[in-house]
Amino acid sequence: MSGALGTGLYFRHSACLEHDPRAHLPTHPDTPERLLEIERRLEACGWLGWERREAPAASEQELELVHTARHVRGVRELCEAGGGAIDADTFVGPASYRAALHAVGAACAMVRALLAGDAAMGFCGVRPSGHHAERERAMGFCLFDNVAVAAELAIRELGVQRVFILDWDVHHGNGTAEIFRRRRDVLFVSIHQAGLFPGTGALQDVGSGEGEGYTLNLPVPAGSEGELWCSLLEHVVLPAAAAFEPQLVLLSAGFDAHLGDPLAGCRLRTDSFAAMACHVRELAARLGAPVGAVLEGGYEPRAVAECVQATLAALGGEGEAVSAAPEALLTPRAAAQFGRYWPL
Ligand SMILES: [Zn+2]
Repeated sequence: MSGALGTGLYFRHSACLEHDPRAHLPTHPDTPERLLEIERRLEACGWLGWERREAPAASEQELELVHTARHVRGVRELCEAGGGAIDADTFVGPASYRAALHAVGAACAMVRALLAGDAAMGFCGVRPSGHHAERERAMGFCLFDNVAVAAELAIRELGVQRVFILDWDVHHGNGTAEIFRRRRDVLFVSIHQAGLFPGTGALQDVGSGEGEGYTLNLPVPAGSEGELWCSLLEHVVLPAAAAFEPQLVLLSAGFDAHLGDPLAGCRLRTDSFAAMACHVRELAARLGAPVGAVLEGGYEPRAVAECVQATLAALGGEGEAVSAAPEALLTPRAAAQFGRYWPL
């Protein structure tokens, strides 16, 4: 891919600030302040030289690349009727549908731009997030699966044969997993805290049918630190991803594994995310594939903003991918589980 080294594309839209679940639940953690804090921080450092682009709204046709027409209509009609609760965590208001269209539209526009060679990396600073949304169900603050739509768009319309999706949000990306679990053209890898919402993503779940071996779940214990996450990334995820030879790398970039996050119990520091992003950058460079990241969770606005800045800097070339020792317990277990499918 062409594009000057270090220059990425940052997709955003003010409509993403209008979705506010606090109208239904005043203590809801998914607030517009998350995005405002990210943008304040990036503004203060000149956006690290990244080019900002307005995210277009996705079309319903694009949503229906992975979602059923019934699901799309259901969310739209609930918002048009003034909003309400979808489940105990997931709420919409009148502006939520439009916010979601721009969130999906950002991911689609990013993938189009990356594959056209406009840049080698992109980031979508959008909400609502997407990775819990299944084909026909909104859940876990997510209405439509931003990353999944973008991956499917790349495959169906932009000539890509294989997409690697890494989900480092602290929660299992059950939506993306469900959408692609029978597919071998999408390698989906999720590192997440075991036992946390939504409860799926066991090590033994490797996808099914044609897609067996193309879903890798790496649950880690509460309290785990960056060293463990980086070690699994280096010794399990990257060898599998390299052997898969994707032409596009997508990142479900949640930052709720940060030690400051109120919803989870992992202990990653900001530089842990930078370290992971360096590994992803080097993998993508070796493969000649662009990297596109889409914001997922992360509920301590200052920590999220710091992590986004660190991730953009690392994707843009700052720092080296540092090698970590294999983790004594989890690396061999994961290698035994996935070694049947990948050269680990
Ligand atoms: Zn999360």
